[in-house]
Amino acid sequence: MDLPRYDLHCHSTASDGSLSPADLLNRARSRGIEVLSLTDHDTLEGVRELMRQDLEGIQLVPGTELTCLWQGRVIHLVGLGLDPENNDLQAYLNNLALLRRQRSEKIARQLEKMGVPPVYAEAQALAGKGSIGRPHFARALVEKGFVVNEQQAFKKYLGAGKKGDVKMPWPDLADAVSVLKAAGGVSIIAHPTKYKMTFTKIRSLVADFIAAGGDGIEVSYPGVTPDHQLHLNRIAESNNLLVSAGSDFHTPDAGWTDLGKYPPLKTTKNHVLRLLIN
Ligand code: AMP
Ligand code: MN
Ligand code: MN
Ligand code: MN
Repeated sequence: MDLPRYDLHCHSTASDGSLSPADLLNRARSRGIEVLSLTDHDTLEGVRELMRQDLEGIQLVPGTELTCLWQGRVIHLVGLGLDPENNDLQAYLNNLALLRRQRSEKIARQLEKMGVPPVYAEAQALAGKGSIGRPHFARALVEKGFVVNEQQAFKKYLGAGKKGDVKMPWPDLADAVSVLKAAGGVSIIAHPTKYKMTFTKIRSLVADFIAAGGDGIEVSYPGVTPDHQLHLNRIAESNNLLVSAGSDFHTPDAGWTDLGKYPPLKTTKNHVLRLLIN
């Protein structure tokens, strides 16, 4: 069976994307996407906004990308096919929103310690009602002319190991898997090769993820190499996991990403989309 054109991982202004949910939907339509999952970081607000709109033939899969911890590392889990009305999930997301607000205050303090001009108010304004994150600080630093682009802001101040990469007691991976399941969704390890882990480590993550009840892994996303994809497909196959794919689209400004744009899959066996489409 051929799959419809889909994107199961992208962001809007409800988190760190630059398009409103409505504009994202329009872009998806113009890109010929038939099934779209909006997976904003730690929130369903963008999904809720889309559910109030006329989707004009696009199937919306309610999703989110949860920040969680495994062995002290931050891992992202994509949840797909969730019930946006689920109370356990909403309470869980409310806690993440609180953690993100607390973290943003700490990030602001760390940046000032590094001699960076104050950007807390700007970062908050850029996040608006959305899930505040490091990209809002990065954008604020660009707007102030303090760095040339967001990558430089991450490289110098906000990225892994830098002072602005403030550690938080994010929920454990197993809790994230549980709450997604409780909300009727499936859990997918996002971009497994983007955590600077060896494949041995990734296999160990996958083993714990499966023990917790996890369902699948992303095998295609921008930056994945053919060799990575081969390894990821093998891991999925040998563990009987679902496979997923998405663009992780955040903004049209980064010319190389777009909705529906990710490397072709080598196989669509056990594709999560088959569970999600009507
Ligand atoms: P946060 O969820 O606040 O920890 O921020 C993580 C987000 O920052 C990711 O989802 C990306 O959108 C963005 N990001 C992470 N690393 C970089 C980087 N090196 N350059 C630009 N954006 C990044
Ligand atoms: Mn992001
Ligand atoms: Mn991610
Ligand atoms: Mn993402």
